[in-house]
Amino acid sequence: MYTTRLYASLGIAGQERLITAWTRFRRLIREGVLYRKYQRQLDQTQWLDEAALAAYQEDAVAAALSYARRYVPHYRKSLSDRQTRQVFSWLETLPVIDKAWVRQHEGSLRSRLPTLSVSGGTSGSTGSPLMVRHDLASVIREQAFVDRQRAWASYRAGERRAWWRGDLIAPVARTDPPYWRLNKGENMLMLSSYHLSERTLQLYREALERFDPVIIEAYPSSVAYLAQYLKATGQQYGGKSLRAVLTSSETLSTEQRNVIEAVMGCRVFNWYGGYERVAAIGTCEHGRLHLLGDYSYVELAEVDGDLQEIIGTAFHERAMPLFRYRTGDTIEVATTGASRCPCGRAFPVVKTVVGREDDYVVTDDGRHVGRLDHIYKGIEGVAEAQIRQSASGEIVIAVVPLKSFNEGVRARLMDNAVERLGPGTPIRVETATRLPRTSNGKLRGVIREVRQETPSLAN
Ligand SMILES: [Zn+2]
Repeated sequence: MYTTRLYASLGIAGQERLITAWTRFRRLIREGVLYRKYQRQLDQTQWLDEAALAAYQEDAVAAALSYARRYVPHYRKSLSDRQTRQVFSWLETLPVIDKAWVRQHEGSLRSRLPTLSVSGGTSGSTGSPLMVRHDLASVIREQAFVDRQRAWASYRAGERRAWWRGDLIAPVARTDPPYWRLNKGENMLMLSSYHLSERTLQLYREALERFDPVIIEAYPSSVAYLAQYLKATGQQYGGKSLRAVLTSSETLSTEQRNVIEAVMGCRVFNWYGGYERVAAIGTCEHGRLHLLGDYSYVELAEVDGDLQEIIGTAFHERAMPLFRYRTGDTIEVATTGASRCPCGRAFPVVKTVVGREDDYVVTDDGRHVGRLDHIYKGIEGVAEAQIRQSASGEIVIAVVPLKSFNEGVRARLMDNAVERLGPGTPIRVETATRLPRTSNGKLRGVIREVRQETPSLAN
């Protein structure tokens, strides 16, 4: 909507009316009878004990497989009839699939049953996005899960909130404030993630404090940028009502979490999801990350030591069901001692969401080094940063410096990088006023250009 000609043609008040009207329309669709049914269901399923949760998962997977066997062309051919009583053995007759596979089989993965559905693309750093379809019930169910996460962060429906994500609320080319719009349909201040700079941060801060939201829902990079700036200038966020910051869509680093919590004066509730909707991780009232067992069925594949990759099976997706989908995202599951959470939920506890499996660089001696946010440990005066490795192997740490950034910080950053990557890898620290975003406005922490084969000269 934000990129339509209509939106662009309106003044700020007109844009706010349009956003409000659109939101009210969307709520009409999303928050009906079905929504309330899911909400009641999720209220209950979060308290299932281990055995009941396992039974719930088994039923949901069985229903999804049976549906696919009947209505989805690809699975009509490839999925055998249920031979055993064991649902998970039935599931495991299917191969693990990935994004490339889905792209290749897209046409035959859609249900033959006509369903009202929406499609959207997953963002990616390279190549075309993967188009995934969701039926209307899936959209509504997702809304119920998001609302449950908000409730865990002690937010109640209707309270003021700030939304600071990838929506193009103000045109990127616009240099004058405001970089935000008021959405009365949701009692929400929507802020642009595309206009952050040292010049505009004070304005963002004032807008937030004036609106005084109860929660801020944001890309980690947007809210961490503000927090870094406030910390560097010796300020604290002054909003009186803020209870929580809810982050999602980008990997949240420990450094980002620490600075947000310290400066914004509240806890961070991180959420992991994905447009494929095969897995979700939320944060409970006790600050623990939980792999949501009532959202999907997840198999964990060992990647490297304590790291595991999420392979997810959707429960209720009917327009385009995905089974055993390799997400490319890795997590670290809590060890047995820490696997129980005081909240009492049986959902497994996740120690950290590490991020994308391909968020690594290759050193001169061929090592693949991931979890690169360690490089920023103890670094101040940096609003945001990105690590890029070119095809030639050179690593550039691009940083957006704040006034307090100096040669000492640069040297420390280099030391940290050399410590992890070794002295033989060419590394450079580069400053920039702005770091590139994906088409959804997300900041990727690591970008690695794939080493190309030497092109043949024959033509
Ligand atoms: Zn918990």
